[in-house]
Amino acid sequence: TPYLPNPERYNTMEYNRCGNSGILLPKISLGLWHNFGFYDSFENARNILKKAFDLGITHLDLANNYGPPYGSAEENFGRILKKDFADHRDELFIASKAGFDMWPGPYGNNGSKKYLTASLDQSLQRMGLDYVDVFYHHRPDADTPLEETMHALDLMVKQGKALYIGLSRYSPQDTIKAQKILKDLGTPVLIHQSKYSMLERAEEKELFPTLLEQKIGSIVFSPLAQGLLTDKYLKGIPEGSRASKNNTYLQADAIPKTIDTIQKLNEIALNRGQKLSQMAIAWILTQPAVTTVLVGASSPGQLEENVLATQNTFFTKDEIVLIDNVLKA
Ligand code: NDP
Repeated sequence: TPYLPNPERYNTMEYNRCGNSGILLPKISLGLWHNFGFYDSFENARNILKKAFDLGITHLDLANNYGPPYGSAEENFGRILKKDFADHRDELFIASKAGFDMWPGPYGNNGSKKYLTASLDQSLQRMGLDYVDVFYHHRPDADTPLEETMHALDLMVKQGKALYIGLSRYSPQDTIKAQKILKDLGTPVLIHQSKYSMLERAEEKELFPTLLEQKIGSIVFSPLAQGLLTDKYLKGIPEGSRASKNNTYLQADAIPKTIDTIQKLNEIALNRGQKLSQMAIAWILTQPAVTTVLVGASSPGQLEENVLATQNTFFTKDEIVLIDNVLKA
């Protein structure tokens, strides 16, 4: 049976303007870093994407090397697009990136025009797309002149292979320099991607004020600290969870290190009538610089739970102080 999207999807999700642009992004976006590769269940991946679209999540975040194996998240996503979303391409805002290790040899990594150009062409082929909505340089590369990388990004836009440009993990200083180059070329940065959560607050200091000042949108990744900021690890490491798996970036020893904090935050969340995962997302949405919170999900149910965070994003002054004290302890 063909997939019929929820007709109410745009009445429930709220959308924020992305920097100084014409683009609105949902308050919650979905990332395909985990759970969409060839080693994962294709049907589960498909169901997560349908759930996302039904919830009004129009923005999907990919990269050349998501999988594993590398490229397989884009390939699976392309198959699902064709099967279920063929009539909805213009309702989706699709991101890809290059900047980390992708293929062997000197041209499969970092920030050269050679690498970025070839990588985007490969991504388009895997996803079966004519263009991506936003293409990111995935991380800064100190060994390549910033001008070369920015010219490569600008060229993609001029060639119609990407509509907008994004920067991921760039420092505030490099973001300002890159924006200057790109503005001169006529292709200003749409959005900046960085890691931010209750457990990793460094970007509040300099990056967020810079993005507001530069009128660049902000999308933040690992908002649940890869699952730590949920109630799932309160009683140990459940089977199948990210911390239980080998070869992930969430080490099991992160749990004993954070458990006291997580327990206290969980109490505060329950007193607000929210789950910890929901409070962690709602709390991020109080940051004026943040356009959208980029979550991951291993099931449609997790995504449903996370999107409900938007129903209670108000924090009293007392709650903010209480949370700050827990996070500082
Ligand atoms: P999160 O912090 O949201 O972690 C997602 C994981 O947490 C899920 O896969 C699931 O793991 C668990 N989880 C999510 N919701 C719940 C819930 N309600 N209850 C219990 N557990 C839950 O984000 P990610 O670290 O996955 O990053 C999100 C996206 O950000 C990526 O997909 C990618 O697009 C982007 N990203 C970008 C980077 C960059 O360099 N630019 C780097 C990293 C990520 P489990 O398997 O345990 O169920």
